[in-house]
Amino acid sequence: MTALADLLIRRITATGPISVADYMTDCLLHPDHGYYTTRDPFGTQGDFTTAPEISQMFGEMLGLCLAQSWLDQGAPASVTLAELGPGRGTLMADVLRATTSIKGFHDAAKVHLVEASPVLRARQRDALRGAPVTWHYTAATLPDAPLFLVANEFFDALPIRQFIRTGPAWRERQVGVKDGALTFGLAAPAPVAALMHRLADTANGDLVEVCPAAPAIMEQIGIRIAAHGGAALIVDYGGWNSLGDTLQALKSHAPDAPLAHPGQADLTAHVDFAVLAKYAQPAVSTAMTAQGVVLERLGITGRAQSLARHLDGAALSGHIAAHRRLTHPDEMGTLFQAIGIYPPGTPPPAGFDT
Ligand code: SAH
Repeated sequence: MTALADLLIRRITATGPISVADYMTDCLLHPDHGYYTTRDPFGTQGDFTTAPEISQMFGEMLGLCLAQSWLDQGAPASVTLAELGPGRGTLMADVLRATTSIKGFHDAAKVHLVEASPVLRARQRDALRGAPVTWHYTAATLPDAPLFLVANEFFDALPIRQFIRTGPAWRERQVGVKDGALTFGLAAPAPVAALMHRLADTANGDLVEVCPAAPAIMEQIGIRIAAHGGAALIVDYGGWNSLGDTLQALKSHAPDAPLAHPGQADLTAHVDFAVLAKYAQPAVSTAMTAQGVVLERLGITGRAQSLARHLDGAALSGHIAAHRRLTHPDEMGTLFQAIGIYPPGTPPPAGFDT
């Protein structure tokens, strides 16, 4: 049993079952035993790989997309270039390299990273060596300035609550203890104000997920973009209006039972892009657009061809596989979706459906 499992079992035995969100919070960010607080989980040695770790082209395309929005909005002289949950810092490093030749962009852009994990902050410092960076624990402390922001696989790491519909009420799925082990259970039925609107599109027995932290984060982003300008590009796996149990654990690149290894497996849930778009108002949102489609429209294939000219052998086949993995509908191309947030009355971020 992990040290965190032991702590959770003692806590639940003493004070009662906890929400799935409280369980995820401890698993991911417990100061001593949390998954992200204690390790670098990425790469072949780790538990999972993300788009920026697959190829530099991912960050290059998103960086050029942000720089295009900056140009479209008149190249403001002082802006925030921010990332939520930057992992190893690879995406921001690729954004910065790809935008070096955009005249004036680097002089205007101050880099701000929102990162909870001390281990990953150190990795980000290494990746961005030389660039002045300000770190934040939450989006609430980002400067009041034009905001150009990326977030890849950030919202899927935020804790979710799960509710199962019973008539007009909902039973919350909880984590309890049975026979000395963590187990799922259901709280008594109760009305849930935040789910009133879901009574219209769900049936008895349906499970709906709510991410309590997402609305406040999107408000912080939307207010800045609407007031000062900017753009936010949010990429993740998920859909429009959550439905069904999407809580999943990943350990050493293989699925794991969500209660099996608290603190030692990654825990995620699908992202509800409808909620992200709603709370970004008064900023506007593009339509949800497949990652593969956005990357193609931003020119990833041309970039792949020009990089390929300098490669051969295993490096070339790895590069071709990476392009396919990021864009193909059978790989990450449609599983991952994206939205762009932008100020009313300005052109939407390039590559997105509107
Ligand atoms: N964007 C990166 C990493 C994705 S993993 C990539 O694509 O490779 C999720 C990232 O979000 C990690 O850096 C993790 O430490 C961070 N994170 C998770 N929950 C967070 C929270 N509540 N506040 C700030 N950062 C968080």
